[in-house]
Amino acid sequence: MTARILVVDDVPANVKLLEARLSAEYFDVTTASNGAEALAVCARAECDIVLLDVMMPDMDGFEVCRRLKSNPATHYIPVVMITALDSPADRVRGLEAGADDFLTKPVSDVVLLARVRSLTRLKMMTDELRMRAITSLEIGMEAPERSAVADTGKGGRILLVDDRPASYERLAPMLAAEHSVDVEPDPSQALFHAAEGDYDLLIVSLSLDNFDGLRLCSQARSLERTRQVPILAISDADNNARLLRGLEIGVNDYLLRPVDRNELLARARTQIRKRRYTDHLRDNVQNSIEMAITDALTGLHNRRYMESHLATLAEQASARGKPLALMILDIDFFKAINDTYGHDAGDDVLREFAVRIRKSIRGIDLACRYGGEEFVIVMPETDPHVAGMVAERLRRSIAGEKFAVDKGDKRIDVTISIGLSTLERKGEPVADVLKRADKALYRAKHDGRNRVVSDAA
Ligand code: GH3
Ligand code: MG
Ligand code: MG
Repeated sequence: MTARILVVDDVPANVKLLEARLSAEYFDVTTASNGAEALAVCARAECDIVLLDVMMPDMDGFEVCRRLKSNPATHYIPVVMITALDSPADRVRGLEAGADDFLTKPVSDVVLLARVRSLTRLKMMTDELRMRAITSLEIGMEAPERSAVADTGKGGRILLVDDRPASYERLAPMLAAEHSVDVEPDPSQALFHAAEGDYDLLIVSLSLDNFDGLRLCSQARSLERTRQVPILAISDADNNARLLRGLEIGVNDYLLRPVDRNELLARARTQIRKRRYTDHLRDNVQNSIEMAITDALTGLHNRRYMESHLATLAEQASARGKPLALMILDIDFFKAINDTYGHDAGDDVLREFAVRIRKSIRGIDLACRYGGEEFVIVMPETDPHVAGMVAERLRRSIAGEKFAVDKGDKRIDVTISIGLSTLERKGEPVADVLKRADKALYRAKHDGRNRVVSDAA
């Protein structure tokens, strides 16, 4: 797993040092000697992670970080602040500026590489989601970046796993100032609790009595329900090796005891913000998949989905020796409905038509809007006789009850014509089945509309 790391420091010797260490681990290193340069590299999306010196002339690291994190185009790039300062207050200042982590000079190789690797993993996953979510922007959905930049990271749901009363009685009230917190004092119940609870963050003490906190973290990482929930570990100060192991198995961040209140809150907010952003991206991807196969007006499947799915249904029918029926439905004189009552009324009719179709078909049937006022229903395991009855029932459900338009102010008569066909032989191209249904529809129109015509008739 390689990543492009941007090293920002005004002292050339510091840049060289970090560059050498990271290059030795096969990371691609880019460098910048001031804030403005760093912002430019990030704006061109030429790096995956930023290692940022705090003390620089002109623009200091806090300011660079704040600008990166408040810009929707760059906010998702992980930033690690590197500084000679080390008090909880400095760390908190970095975290408040939006930094993903804070390392103190001199930076140990192991710690540096562990952080860079774990942030790289996260960045790769986010990039993948962002790439897929971009299409959803193109089709006009809300950009997750906007809400991510505005998110304070407060109001999360946190599960604190800690079996020492003296510890959780101190930590829980701190967290409760900004979040809702559940405490799980029994580590053996923690995984179950986490899976049931829909949490935004797990905070796990690594100094549990009789229980390996890291094992819990690793189990949470492999369980489907908790895989995406960030983990913040709390460790005793002397536990460096275990912390590194933790980062390797997917712990997102850690804190050392004694826990500083502001640092705890800042780290919790950072994790919760990230969690919400990736969730939002994931929803976005899901929505765009749905939008790509759904007709927006009626909520039925669209033509593209039907055409790709129809081929599969026909193959299945052929392979199992089962019948397959297909009908094309077309609203009669729909243009006249638009002309008389307006385009919005026409839309009302289309929507209500879709509702009535849904009521008349089975779960395994596939209904789609084929175009304008034309619809297709594919019915697996349905012979011509049954298909004819279904079509006739549908025709009556349309002609038999007026359609409400103009918010219910008017009620109008609507009729449809239906052309019906069935798969005639194994391996017959679905395009042929559609074509025969279309011919039957044409005859239904020609013979006076408001009727069902089968291509075998
Ligand atoms: P026929 O009985 O022969 O099918 O006549 P028709 O008027 O229904 O058929 P024609 O194909 O001439 O007209 C279909 C009309 O459907 C024309 C088009 O403006 C309208 N239409 C297509 N899509 C929509 C839509 O999404 N909303 C509305 N309101 N009208 C639509
Ligand atoms: Mg029509
Ligand atoms: Mg038409």
